[in-house]
Amino acid sequence: MSTNKSVRVRIAPSPTGENLHIGHANTALVDYVFAKQNNGKFVIRIEDTDRTRFVEGSEERILESLRWLGLNYDEGPDIGGDYGPYRQSDRLDLYKKYAKELIDKGMAYYCFCTPERLDKMRKEQQARGETPMYDGTCKHLSPEEVQQRLDSGQPHVIRLNVPDEGTTTFHDVVRGDITFENRLIDDQVLIKSDGFPTYHMAVVVDDHLMEISHVIRGEDWISSTPKHVLLYKAFGWELPVFVHLPLLRNKDKSKLSKRKNPVWMSWYREQGFLPQAIINYLGTLIWPRAQGSEIFSLDEMIQGFDINKINPTGPIFDLEKLRWMNGVYIRSLQVSELASLLVSEGFVNERYAKNSAYLERVVELAQERLKVLSEFWDENRFFFEDVAVDKELVTSYLSDSSKRKEYLNEVVNALEALELWETEQIEKALREIQQKHELKPRAAFMTIRAAVSGQTHTPPLFEMLEVLGRDVVLDRLIKALDF
Ligand code: GLU
Repeated sequence: MSTNKSVRVRIAPSPTGENLHIGHANTALVDYVFAKQNNGKFVIRIEDTDRTRFVEGSEERILESLRWLGLNYDEGPDIGGDYGPYRQSDRLDLYKKYAKELIDKGMAYYCFCTPERLDKMRKEQQARGETPMYDGTCKHLSPEEVQQRLDSGQPHVIRLNVPDEGTTTFHDVVRGDITFENRLIDDQVLIKSDGFPTYHMAVVVDDHLMEISHVIRGEDWISSTPKHVLLYKAFGWELPVFVHLPLLRNKDKSKLSKRKNPVWMSWYREQGFLPQAIINYLGTLIWPRAQGSEIFSLDEMIQGFDINKINPTGPIFDLEKLRWMNGVYIRSLQVSELASLLVSEGFVNERYAKNSAYLERVVELAQERLKVLSEFWDENRFFFEDVAVDKELVTSYLSDSSKRKEYLNEVVNALEALELWETEQIEKALREIQQKHELKPRAAFMTIRAAVSGQTHTPPLFEMLEVLGRDVVLDRLIKALDF
């Protein structure tokens, strides 16, 4: 890989989805790290020329997610820069100008074929078992005829004049040299009949004008790259370095898809994944370290990552592994940090933040088990609100009702009489009663757990009772006495 240009990299998301796609987040991570390693610039360009798939608000959400992840960019549609505009719909005149230049050089041509004709041609080719490709009809129109048709306002597109013979080769940093036969490359449309450029045209013009040194993108674009290379050559422009990243895979090794795995960054945030954990996890997929911990920071990745050592095999995106890693990050937070995060991200209602000492005591108990922030409320709601306790659940551990009542009665009395309301005392008292009644610990303690929380999974019982406070605990136990 050699280039004298200063490092400039970009992601070029299309605002056609809900939010930032996890695949783009992965590319953005590599861009960011590579730019930082080389004192370069990380650029965001919005590829919004496909108006039929445009989704309102998508661009804003993509940018917000990048910022949330901490992948701050140096140039982009909302912050500007020296190479703008950064939205392709604001650059239409440029594409037309450059397409005209190719026409003048004989590297591109006007095509007046109607959609009906193209459709018929395609079907015939398919029937013959051929790959559908433009048959070159308009390539041979005389200049006079072209002018006449343009003057009469006939709808048209502009196509790239791809040589029929020879091959096109480019070097990819991950996979080495890749060669395509020109006769298999279609005379690609560059400008559509609505005057908008196609992806191929816009991406090449923009990467060139924005002085992108390394085109880093998913390997699903490899088959487009020879078309781009032909365009660079037609313009006489220097090629960027191509880095096609392996695609993230579902567990069954298929390409990561919405059906099998959440792909939008908004989903991860709503679930309560921490940006640092997502970055770290994506980092492990693209930079598996032979030695050392899987837990590393963005700065450590910037120190150690080597773009020349990317493994071409598509890594498996394992949501369970990410959940585990998220838990590691959650446990690394200060209790007060975690508590404020739960509130600011909307997982705990602000009115419970007023009693911050209480909130923090609950958070401290919950922190150990928490994998994603969204689970906090469901698992710990009973600390804040009265819960509907399921009679069946409470009675299921001690089905003999008179024994259960006797036991619970004694528990209530003992807790009421406790001198100090703290974990050790509570535990001591409850263990004594359990032994006296010759109950299995599980039966004795699950009954209490269910009665005060309505749940089978909670933080450790005795600590939990201490935090809940004597009044609440007694109140709930007394209710359970009636079951
Ligand atoms: N708009 C394309 C995308 O959505 C950009 C591909 C590229 O990076 O060239 O991924």
